[in-house]
Amino acid sequence: MDIRAFTALETGKLIKEKKISSPEATRAYLDAAKADQAKAIGDGAKINAYTEILEEEAMARAQAVQRRIDAGEALSPIAGVPMAMKDNICTTEGHTTAASKILGGFRAPYDAGVTERLKDAGAVILGKANMDEFAMGGSTETSYLGITRNPWGLSCVPGGSSGGSAAAVAAGLAPYALGSDTGGSIRQPASFCGLTGLKPTYGSVSRYGLLAFGSSLDQIGPLARDARDCAAILSVISGRDERDSTSVSEKPFRLDEPLFGDGSGSGDGAGAGLRGRRIGIPANYFSMPGMSGDVRGRVLAAAEVLRGLGAETEEFELPMIDAAVPTYLIIACAEASSNLSRYDGVKYGYRAPAAADIHDVYYRTRSEGFGTEVKRRIILGSFVLSSGYFDAYYKKALQVRGLIKDTFDKALAKYDIILTPTCPTAAYPIGGRIDDPLAMYLGDIFTTSANLTGQPALSAPCGFGGGGMPVGMQLIGGAYSEALLLGTAAAYQTVTDHHKQRPSLGAGLGAGADGANNGAGDGADGGAGLGAGGAEKGGAN
Ligand code: GLN
Repeated sequence: MDIRAFTALETGKLIKEKKISSPEATRAYLDAAKADQAKAIGDGAKINAYTEILEEEAMARAQAVQRRIDAGEALSPIAGVPMAMKDNICTTEGHTTAASKILGGFRAPYDAGVTERLKDAGAVILGKANMDEFAMGGSTETSYLGITRNPWGLSCVPGGSSGGSAAAVAAGLAPYALGSDTGGSIRQPASFCGLTGLKPTYGSVSRYGLLAFGSSLDQIGPLARDARDCAAILSVISGRDERDSTSVSEKPFRLDEPLFGDGSGSGDGAGAGLRGRRIGIPANYFSMPGMSGDVRGRVLAAAEVLRGLGAETEEFELPMIDAAVPTYLIIACAEASSNLSRYDGVKYGYRAPAAADIHDVYYRTRSEGFGTEVKRRIILGSFVLSSGYFDAYYKKALQVRGLIKDTFDKALAKYDIILTPTCPTAAYPIGGRIDDPLAMYLGDIFTTSANLTGQPALSAPCGFGGGGMPVGMQLIGGAYSEALLLGTAAAYQTVTDHHKQRPSLGAGLGAGADGANNGAGDGADGGAGLGAGGAEKGGAN
């Protein structure tokens, strides 16, 4: 049996039925992850999904969980199933570095809220997943620990910032992973790597123990092979946490309800599931400059499938799209500049040697410890918050955020779900945008709005572009409509098999013999020129 061929829920079921054990499943993933990690940095076949593999800790936990399962404890449907944790989520095991030099060697003294919940549910943490430094980026190229490659095309980026989480699941190095999403960092890598990923409603998952980037935007969520896995993981990690004052008072959605179609809860009858569901398709999104024809085609074909399942679809105009990225960047950078002031060489991680006095400690530690992209964001954030510019930038961005929220609320009063592409293009070649921050930022054009509004949004695979790289569609809903989004994606996934496709990787990783797809994206028209508003912000950097 190829243990790594199963979804998280299937693995949990096999463990529960004693067909495999948690230590066996954990061992299979650890061996695959270690085989990849043993390759040299710079080896074009190294995925580099993990910043750290927690072999001993994972095996010990798997054995402990197995004992509880054997004793008849009902833990959760994912009890005993291993997973990968993004490296900005605190775990008492190993290190938590946010892929930054400044947190080199840092060991978290406590578990994040989601880590605690997962452990209580019997999850086994395989290791920490690579990411863009402090979750700032969209390609996992800003990690201090080296780039992560896209398992579907090793010369392409896996997306970011949760690129390690996505690549781990896509390459069969973990059955599921957690990521964080401030402006699209779960959905965009899910889209680039052919996975289902969900950014939950703001406040529904605790941020306690998540290294803060933009606190009013950050949410933790699952990356998995299908919508059912995402639902199972979300039901474990969501709920009130006293230690996060923005977490909502109780679990606001019922994921154990029969959301998957036929009302029997058996999860098999998607056919009837979408009758009467109103899906709005913002036509103006599809004609943005920089939008790839492949992506447009795949997402519109998915709309056709949803219609076939009984949904009513309608095209409409969703305004304010030009404002999304500039507004997001001002707010995210402002919050980041404040959040990252705590990394000063005194309290955590790295401290520059040979500093003359305390100011020199701050100056040298931050100069040496942060990478270029993080510095760019801190400088931009400090600028928009500084006296004289506060009203012109930060305050105005907050006002525009309100207008964007109104726009989405209006659309979601008319439609149950808004269907968009997750990204304007499929995954692009490594190095393709890293020296052009503006092009990189504009790749977030469709994802940032849901962070600004707090609404839930999901990305699910809906086909492949010309270069063989996965394409994702995004479903956005009103607050706490997770069950609706996941149920809709699950219905789509019962009649399509895009989510079941696997990349063929070299020996020791995937099932295939060789021949990793080296497609260089889908010949995307590039990221430039999407909306004029972003240009000024690039200039301000
Ligand atoms: N790519 C976006 C950025 O660079 C989003 C990051 C995120 O969601 N953490 O800011």
